Amino acid sequence: MDSKVLFHEPQATTAVAVRETAPAKVNLFLNVETKRPDGYHELETLMVSLGLHDTLEFRPLPGESLELVAHDARTAAGLGPSSPPLEVPVGPANLVWKAAQLLQERTGCRLGARLELWKRIPVAAGLAGGSTDAAATLRGLNRLWNLGLSLEELRELGAELGSDIPFFLSGRPAALCRGRGELITPLDLPLGLALVIVKPAAGLSTPQVFRACRPQGPHPGVEPLIAALKQGCLAAVAQRLHNTLQPAAESLCPSVVLLKETFSRLSPVGHLMSGSGTCYFGLCRNLAEARRLAGVLQAQRVGSVFVTSVAC
Ligand code: ATP
Repeated sequence: MDSKVLFHEPQATTAVAVRETAPAKVNLFLNVETKRPDGYHELETLMVSLGLHDTLEFRPLPGESLELVAHDARTAAGLGPSSPPLEVPVGPANLVWKAAQLLQERTGCRLGARLELWKRIPVAAGLAGGSTDAAATLRGLNRLWNLGLSLEELRELGAELGSDIPFFLSGRPAALCRGRGELITPLDLPLGLALVIVKPAAGLSTPQVFRACRPQGPHPGVEPLIAALKQGCLAAVAQRLHNTLQPAAESLCPSVVLLKETFSRLSPVGHLMSGSGTCYFGLCRNLAEARRLAGVLQAQRVGSVFVTSVAC
């Protein structure tokens, strides 16, 4: 996208408040290829968005000022009060703030906003919590400020802030993402999936995991997974789950190994680490099984446990 002003005849804001839901994602398939000259790795990943979500609300502020208020809403998502403190930056380091600033810069918009974030998605977990919040901010402020940008224009802006952001601006709950993650092919999948997800106390930074990743020779393709999803064959889906980053994360974080062993014993239909970790998910036969396994995992104190579903 041209880095000059995209559009803006300043218009009066009509909305008093705009609310957006920001879903988390898991990667059912993540293949990391060689590093490109620009420093990014070439990726092929199948992402699905989850019922687990953050919520954002946007209200007009006078002038061009931005204000961010973040709330810890994890108790409502099933996390107990003993959870570690939420390590999400407030102020300009938050991706929500960066997205708002980018939108102001690129549209020439002279309006301000109060951004309010209810955070439920675990941070540094491989669930793309920051990316989905940034995407929701681009969508929400586009509405609040009457900017009239298309989803495609928002995706191009989002790609400047982070590789996972365009997926959340695809308007679809499942997509195959290539390039550094920004080349999106939406997928229509008939199968709803029930997941139990564990976030261990330890987190991992995405660059650290990529640095430790040593992709080992021939990798499975994503097409058999897509075919299994389209056929609605859960057992075949489970066999084709794949994450090239998992061995690297296991070498850096014993909790990921422990979760793999724990899930193997519990025998959901399939299990995998999401993204660059450290969240680990079990693919279950239905929500009842996901809830039953969640009870067992909670009793074993392996981390914070969530039950959620993918609406393909
Ligand atoms: P990905 O799956 O895209 O690699 P992640 O789930 O591993 O992402 P995030 O939760 O997005 O990681 O957090 C990554 C970093 O971004 C953290 O260090 C966090 O401090 C920072 N961050 C900035 N803004 C946010 C936000 N709104 N929510 C969560 N983290 C944020």
